[in-house]
Parts: sequence; C-alpha cells; structure tokens
Amino acid sequence: MDYQYSAIIIGKRDVGETDRIYTAFTQQSGKIKVLAKGVRKAQAKLAGALEPLTLVDLATARAQGMGKVTGVVVENNYNNLKQDLATVAVALRGVRLFDRLVDLEQPDEALFQLLKEFLETLDSLNGSAPVKSEVVSLAFTFKLLSSLGYHFEATRCVQCAGPLSSGDRNGWSPETGGVACGACVAKDTQARSISVNSIKQLRVFSQNSLNSLRRLGVDERDTRELGRIAVDFIAWVR
Ligand SMILES: [Zn+2]
Repeated sequence: MDYQYSAIIIGKRDVGETDRIYTAFTQQSGKIKVLAKGVRKAQAKLAGALEPLTLVDLATARAQGMGKVTGVVVENNYNNLKQDLATVAVALRGVRLFDRLVDLEQPDEALFQLLKEFLETLDSLNGSAPVKSEVVSLAFTFKLLSSLGYHFEATRCVQCAGPLSSGDRNGWSPETGGVACGACVAKDTQARSISVNSIKQLRVFSQNSLNSLRRLGVDERDTRELGRIAVDFIAWVR
C-alpha cells in the first residue's frame, strides 16, 4: 500500500549500515515512524529533505511492519529558524517534548496545526530576540499539554475553585497541577511561589495564538519562572 502524508519531521535515528528511521507527525495519521533505506550514503538525495524541523510531502510504501520512504518533497524548510543556532535548540527541545508526550498513530489535526505554527512562528522571529523564542516555546509547551488533556489551571484556585488574588500570595501547586490561592497555599507545604505576572502570562498563552505572542512584551524573570513551572508540570504529567 502507498501512502501520502503532509508531515513534519521530528526525529531521526541511524540503523544498520546506511539506513535511518525517521519520526514524523503527519496530518493524516498522527505520529509515525518510517524507514529510509540507504539515506546515509554520500550520494543519497533524500537526507536533506528529511532533516528534523522540516515540513514535507512524504510518500511511503508499507507491506507489513514499518513503512518505507519512497519520495519526499520539501514544503517548508524553515530556513530563518535553521540559520540561528539558539532558535534551533529551542525548536528541537519543543519537538522532543512533543515526541515524548504524543503516542503513535493517533491522528490529531489540532496538534498538527500547533506543531506547524510553532515552527512557523520561530521561523518568523528571524533570530531577533532569544527571550521571544523562549516565550513562544513556553506557550507551545502549555498549549501542547492542554491539547493532550492536561490543562494548567490559572484562572481560579486549583484547590478550592475560589478567585486568585492580585497580591503575591498565590502559589503553584505541583500536587494538583495549577495555581492555588493564598489560603490554600498556606496549607500546602509543596506549593511554590508564582508571581502575578506569570499567572497573567499563562492566561495570555491560553487565549492567544503562538503567532500573535511574537508581539508580546516579555520579562526575562517571569519567563525563567514559567520555565521552571513548565518543567515541574511536565514531571507531574509523566
Ligand atoms: Zn484556594
């Protein structure tokens, strides 16, 4: 059977003498793994088109087991993104997390569009300000988790459902995966402080597209705080 996919390459692994297994997230079938035969030979033409962080039209043939790549056409190489090493590092971290959290062969149009928008947005930054790509990456992380059913509660207290004060008494609660109000934080020994700005930023993330977040004014301290919360939240999810 032959298959045609619109696919974003998210990983690769060398196998055998000259072959490679690629991981791709496809619009049609979700995450798949495909074998590219002879792709590591010097004269192989497919390798460049199959680099991670590339949007491609992918043709495969599958009899049994893993599909084999029969053709690939680059749709978007995200050249601006790839010219900036810091942005490449941010993008690779994002797709690795995506790969870790997303199961094989579960088609999901919203996830495909989110991943595509993540790369498009990083590409459009032109390596301008590293903190901007960090913000886009954080927003991508929280949107990804939310799409997978792990919504990060930041609109009301995750424990008592009461309102969150605009003071500094709120806390991020690793036990429950959200922001707790001052009264609940006082009873929760695990809670860590979270600034009002970070809470606001989490709300901005959930209400805006990644693309529009490019124009958001960002504070490096809040971004670092949210980065630590994202790491804790992912650990809680897993
Ligand atoms: Zn509460």
